[in-house]
Amino acid sequence: MEKNKITDIRVRFAPSPTGHLHVGGARTALFNWLFARHHNGKFILRIEDTDEERSSAENTGEIIRSLKWLGLEWDEGPDKPGEYGPYLQSERNFLYKKYIEKLLAEDKAYRCFCTQEELASEKTRAESEKRQYRYSGKCSHLTDEEINSFLEQKRPYVVRLRIPKGETVLNDVIRGRIEFKNEIFDDFIIQKSSGGVVYNFAVVIDDALMNISHVIRGDDHISNTPKQIIMYEALGFSLPVFAHVSMILGGDGKRLSKRHGAVSVDQYRDDGLFPEAVVNYLALLGWSTSDSRQFFHLNDLIKAFSLENISSNPAIFDIKKLEWLSCEHWKLFDRDLKRKYAVECLTSAGFVSGGLSKDEIELLDKALALVGDRIKKTGDILIQINFFFKKEINYPENILKKYFSSGTSFLEVLDKIVNSMEQLENFNEIEIEKIVKGQAALLGIKDVKLMQVIRVVLTGQEISAGIFETIMLLGKNKTVERIKNIVRKLGS
Ligand code: GLU
Repeated sequence: MEKNKITDIRVRFAPSPTGHLHVGGARTALFNWLFARHHNGKFILRIEDTDEERSSAENTGEIIRSLKWLGLEWDEGPDKPGEYGPYLQSERNFLYKKYIEKLLAEDKAYRCFCTQEELASEKTRAESEKRQYRYSGKCSHLTDEEINSFLEQKRPYVVRLRIPKGETVLNDVIRGRIEFKNEIFDDFIIQKSSGGVVYNFAVVIDDALMNISHVIRGDDHISNTPKQIIMYEALGFSLPVFAHVSMILGGDGKRLSKRHGAVSVDQYRDDGLFPEAVVNYLALLGWSTSDSRQFFHLNDLIKAFSLENISSNPAIFDIKKLEWLSCEHWKLFDRDLKRKYAVECLTSAGFVSGGLSKDEIELLDKALALVGDRIKKTGDILIQINFFFKKEINYPENILKKYFSSGTSFLEVLDKIVNSMEQLENFNEIEIEKIVKGQAALLGIKDVKLMQVIRVVLTGQEISAGIFETIMLLGKNKTVERIKNIVRKLGS
């Protein structure tokens, strides 16, 4: 009997490229990746693209991009050949054929020549007798002569696996022991009449030949697992360890889907969430440490991860918690990482190009220090710092209307403020504050109201860090220039 040896930890993520990488798939990938890294094992990416109609190279590309964005690099995969390849199921047909032949030769599988009509009438009979349909096994007793004659006649056939009597036991790391009576299965098809094999067959061949030690996947596959175990046994392969991770629900207790909002990793990327936080959040979907710790860097996750700490209860997805973690991660990013994200934002918005000068980097570091913890997403970085890097401020119509079209005319007071600022020998926060507050008192309005007008003038928006600190970082020249510009523009 052929036996493959499982000596090392080898796990795989095996997405079907029929769509984008969703939360559930990403979590499966992460758990496999963490398990491999924790045990110094190997993480394999296998693309299950046997469903020709629904699979596409674009989806594969998108899944790969999302995994890379999350930082989940694989050791072997379609773009990283290893000794167990190919890693695309569509390129593994020659292997599947070999094992179909083996099962046929050993009479563990058989050719079924039943026509659609014959099967349909079996189904109708089952329905009328109010029992669940299972293939009758009609072709399981064909003689060699009959088979040869049908083959000569070129009659189409499928290949079915002979299901032995008895029961099949799944010892799942997360869900414990589950027993299945084999009589609930019929001799199911493993090779279709087109010659292509089915998922349950391909996955067993691949996992066995790739020496996969642990199969960690979503519990939507639990009903497939006993069939796969029967196949392992028929083929004489050692069983991997199985771990079925519970499903993810939306806040309403229903299975997480698009109805609940963004559920794909590329959407989180486009929304500007930090991948460090997304990974942290995904890990908490069904896994926890005994102290219920919430914040993890990737390295901490690798250290702490174990299959035993995965819960068998469904996990509830909570976008607010993901956003909270995103902010928590930002707070603890080191200077270089904050810079990296900020430069990416500024560059893609076109405010800087071709790298930053020394002065710009200095300005950036100071701006980021000023912004502090106000960041949840990359978009927030841009909102908080864009005006330090803009050559000129363009004022949106609604802002001009809100601040300059009626009531108190701020232009005169801005003019006075800018004149006083220009005359300052010491351009510092205390002096500027005095000027602004003095003018507010003269005008009989609240300080904060005038400060907000100045904020709008200097930044073109209603949000920024403290206005006096912002003025200091902008510097005298830019501050004076921006105030003068608006007075000139609106005064004429
Ligand atoms: N290709 C399957 C899926 O995307 C996964 C198979 C498995 O992990 O065994 O659902």
